[in-house]
Amino acid sequence: MSIATTNPATGQVLKTFEAMSTEQIDAAIERADLAYQQLRETTVDQRARWMNTVADLLEEDRDEIARIMTQEMGKTYVAAQAEVTKCASACRFYADRAPSFLADQPADASAVKATRAFIRYQPIGVVLAVMPWNFPLWQVLRFAAPALMAGNTGLLKHASNVPQTALLLEDVFRRAGFPEGAFTTVLVGSEAVDRILSDPRVRAATLTGSEPAGRSIAQIAGRELKKTVLELGGSDPFVVMPSADVDRAAEVATTARCQNNGQSCIAAKRFIVHTDAFDAFAEQFAANMAALRVGDPMDPGTDVGPLASQRGRDEVHAQVRDAVDNGATVLCGGELPGGDGWYYPPTVVTDLTPEMRMWREEVFGPVAGLYRVSSYEEAIEVANGTSFGLGSNAWTRDEAEQERFAVDLDAGNVFINGMTTSFPELPFGGVKNSGYGRELSELGMREFCNTKTVWVGEGVASAGAGAHAE
Ligand code: NAP
Repeated sequence: MSIATTNPATGQVLKTFEAMSTEQIDAAIERADLAYQQLRETTVDQRARWMNTVADLLEEDRDEIARIMTQEMGKTYVAAQAEVTKCASACRFYADRAPSFLADQPADASAVKATRAFIRYQPIGVVLAVMPWNFPLWQVLRFAAPALMAGNTGLLKHASNVPQTALLLEDVFRRAGFPEGAFTTVLVGSEAVDRILSDPRVRAATLTGSEPAGRSIAQIAGRELKKTVLELGGSDPFVVMPSADVDRAAEVATTARCQNNGQSCIAAKRFIVHTDAFDAFAEQFAANMAALRVGDPMDPGTDVGPLASQRGRDEVHAQVRDAVDNGATVLCGGELPGGDGWYYPPTVVTDLTPEMRMWREEVFGPVAGLYRVSSYEEAIEVANGTSFGLGSNAWTRDEAEQERFAVDLDAGNVFINGMTTSFPELPFGGVKNSGYGRELSELGMREFCNTKTVWVGEGVASAGAGAHAE
């Protein structure tokens, strides 16, 4: 795959980049490792000052960064601006909270026959981040802010279609004052990942992306005995029960499916509606979807811009055609538009069956699958009947049912009467084939820490008696 900026709104290649040579990759790893030796000696207050400056720079350059993101992957300019603002606030969150997240945690010293015992969180070294294009700033910052605040350094291998965003990120960290090499972009294709992760100076990896990419990284990391965090795909259920406010559910469902032009891992993708609410929901949802404005992502009036690549659009359309050819019904959309750019209309498909691709696969575009169920139990069966387990949504005003959904939905998060989103304050991640490990909150920071047990005794003959060696 070439490393290039290709505008999805026109299909025009705007800028191409040479992949780094193996010598350049090795030099980048060396710089990241040297920077780690420096960064681990800095105080958390010093790192917080740099991280707050990253936030300031992102805010100052917001419009220019947003324009580049829109040009590289097609999200609306309005959404791109919001993404930059969200990143700045996550940087400030970690700058502010890192001192408490990293503080020594005392343990019960007498229970372990110590004079003092505590847990200390220390950095582990260079972390490789393999990142996707769909939230090209946010996905990177939600790794980098906690990792660098903990004293690690980051090597970014970004998706090959967002090289300018990747380079500007390196520039922002440098300008903010972080040591040279603390955050480095390596412009490489995915074939270089094995070499980088096999290098002994690289201690861990985090990947956000597809299931095949996750399997590939996990294999390398298994061979090399390195820690990984994997944030993979999802086919999130959005369940609507009879007690729900159906109009509100249909309104939020539209945003939940079409945010980021339908290309979000935590977009609701399967709408599972109780038969008592089905007709009202289906009518309202299809009307809302059909009313969305598809067009130029730079236009503030646009709701849905183009998909990021021609390959991505072809795949989405093939999944819709497969359903239709096998008997599904299209309530709106479903036709490939002519003209330039990789646009796809908001689409609702119903009468789906388990043989169809849409039933089993993640659809990465503005296409909703609509399912009719006749009980709570059937809703859970359909919702959990997927290999993924990233996010989940349930709409019900029945409190007992809310509790049941919170327990029964097999996913990394459950949002009741709302759509799945991410907050720096709350952990984010999946179960099943959606990956493992957590980002955000203090858990995200500790994924790349050495959680060290420190036990201090008196150093006299009786101390430590009764402990067992393992
Ligand atoms: P992708 O093709 O897996 O690419 C993601 C990153 O992995 C890119 O940097 C890509 O590099 C690299 N990559 C691809 N194959 C690889 C391999 N075999 N070994 C090592 N690296 C590899 O995914 P995408 O199409 O960009 O993104 C869409 C997917 O990401 C969807 O499944 C979506 O649900 C998932 N996603 C998950 C989350 C989450 O938090 N769980 C968030 C966003 C997206 P190249 O670009 O050079 O190929």
